[in-house]
Amino acid sequence: MNKELTIVGAGLAGSEAALQLAKRGWNVRLIEMRPLRQTPAHQTGRAAELVCSNSLKSTRLDTGSGMLKAELKLLGCELLAIAEKARVPAAHALAVDRTLFSQYVEEQLASHTNITRITQEVTDLPAGNCLIAAGPLASDALIASLRKLIGEEHLYFFDAIAPIVDTQSLDLDKVFAKARYDKGDADYLNCPFDKEQYEAFVDALLEGEQFEAHEFENEFFAGIDFSYYENCTPIEELARRGRDTLRHGVMRPMGLEDPHTGKKPYAVLQLRAENKDFTAYNIVGAQTMLRQAEQKRIFRLIPGLENASFLRYGSIHRNAYLDAPKVLNPDLSLKNRSDVWIAGQLAGWEGYVESIAGGLFAALIIDKSLPALPEESMTGQLLRRLTRNTDRRFQPINANFGLLPALKNAPRDKRLKRQMLADRGVAALEAVVGDSLLLS
Ligand SMILES: Cc1cc2nc3c(=O)[nH]c(=O)nc-3n(C[C@H](O)[C@H](O)[C@H](O)COP(=O)(O)OP(=O)(O)OC[C@H]3O[C@@H](n4cnc5c(N)ncnc54)[C@H](O)[C@@H]3O)c2cc1C
Repeated sequence: MNKELTIVGAGLAGSEAALQLAKRGWNVRLIEMRPLRQTPAHQTGRAAELVCSNSLKSTRLDTGSGMLKAELKLLGCELLAIAEKARVPAAHALAVDRTLFSQYVEEQLASHTNITRITQEVTDLPAGNCLIAAGPLASDALIASLRKLIGEEHLYFFDAIAPIVDTQSLDLDKVFAKARYDKGDADYLNCPFDKEQYEAFVDALLEGEQFEAHEFENEFFAGIDFSYYENCTPIEELARRGRDTLRHGVMRPMGLEDPHTGKKPYAVLQLRAENKDFTAYNIVGAQTMLRQAEQKRIFRLIPGLENASFLRYGSIHRNAYLDAPKVLNPDLSLKNRSDVWIAGQLAGWEGYVESIAGGLFAALIIDKSLPALPEESMTGQLLRRLTRNTDRRFQPINANFGLLPALKNAPRDKRLKRQMLADRGVAALEAVVGDSLLLS
């Protein structure tokens, strides 16, 4: 194959793939439609924009995402290295200043003379070798063109994003900075609820007026079976599952005694810094489909947020992905057009880091430099599971320990078991990764 490739989408997967291929001597045409044409969730024209949370999840090796990060580092991942440079404090999580992150990715892309940036909406699959990394919000025209090629094997589901509030509008006499059980730095702000406040908040969520799906979505949704993106379930949907669901889940107060009262609150909502200057906070776990006026009213019931000024409201959006086992080859190319590869969330992975991994996999596969990823590794399983046929309807895959082969003589202690699984997988990958991958 000549070393020429068109990449559609300069998001997480597309940017990672472009950087990987450019440093291997490929000439890359990187086509991005923003800012000419926006998606319902992106707000800028910059590459690798994070559309919701600013967290790339945990770096702890005994978590699925932490293990994946350790492996991606071994494979020479570019965007994770950039994320480290844009990091903001968030305990074990790799959270970033999203503006700096995108800016650094732009700078890296611009530093390669063999990457040509083109601002254009791709409405038909390009001729010749191309990698489609157009994401879960790929434009309607491109989705239509893909559907024409592969048939009806697209699935769609809803996703919801959390509001961001201005730090200056918080009541700092009520919210307090504290790490759970005082372990690590106190990077989160906590909003403590007593029983009465919690019950009133749950009631408001249950009664709050939501957007109707049909107000937003296009004809592609007609007749499709919707389901929530499970890791981003709207807070009002969680409240609907039971009055205590929230305080046993995202609002659990464990290890968060209120320094103002010395008591454990009945429930707690946490706020996570959005940027290095701590000028804005994301309401953790408060993804929502509520109307904006309702968000203002209901989230102002949170103790400490009575006068909150909203920098961004939560919203709902479309999330598209392929039925990968039916339409993709194991090398991520389309079964009925082997010069078209798919990467990122559109291919069927779920999450920022998984999408970055998808871009890395596709680039190394196209360059024929991806080593055989061991089955004990998280990367190996993420790649294999995408195209493994099962009887069940295909659902997007994220990094989790359930993907890995079981340990022989596994200990009972869950954390120890995860640590052992991670150590085993990372060591197996280390053994097959040569220095050749770590090009700079
Ligand atoms: C609203 C929303 C919130 C999410 N929140 C989270 C979260 O908090 N945490 C998490 O881990 N994951 C989240 N995800 C899931 C996923 O991790 C992100 O969508 C991630 O950005 C996917 O990476 P990607 O590279 O596949 O797509 P993207 O990063 O979306 O990149 C795709 C790019 O392709 C461009 N494009 C689309 N169509 C065309 C076209 N026809 N021509 C040219 N360019 C085109 C887009 O403008 C975009 O820049 C969320 C997804 C959505 C939609």
